[in-house]
Amino acid sequence: MYVGFGYDVHRFKTGRPLVLGGVRIENAEGLEGHSDADVLIHALMDSLLGAGGLDDIGHLFPNDDSRYNNVSSIFLLEIVYKKLRKQNFRINNVDIVVVAESPKICPFIDIMKQNISKAAELKKERIGIKATTNEKMGFIGRGEGIAAMSVASVSRGKKR
Ligand SMILES: [Zn+2]
Repeated sequence: MYVGFGYDVHRFKTGRPLVLGGVRIENAEGLEGHSDADVLIHALMDSLLGAGGLDDIGHLFPNDDSRYNNVSSIFLLEIVYKKLRKQNFRINNVDIVVVAESPKICPFIDIMKQNISKAAELKKERIGIKATTNEKMGFIGRGEGIAAMSVASVSRGKKR
């Protein structure tokens, strides 16, 4: 069994849609980034890649590659999952924390889990998503952006 950790942060930008966990959330600001800037899925992908001993998303999906302009990060997650399967890895479970002062994430957690479940063939009960604020401290607390952290566990060559 192998464990990986992922961290990501994106700053808010007006005029962009806010996409978290593959869910488009109504909000005055979205997140700045090359893809759809889905910070939750980015942290998740890096934790999965780390667990599998593979290169991180910056290597797999470079910022200067126009193929990934505004691409859905859920689609990138499917690619990451296929890479793991190719190496004979299975995902045991993942656990994600989203740190944001606003908007409220809780109402969307179930549908986020559904999106991840579909993209990575993982049962919903194996997916943890928690949301917290930064208690108004630091750049997250000032509402400058959203951060996400994720741990993932994978096993090699074994049936679930
Ligand atoms: Zn990112």
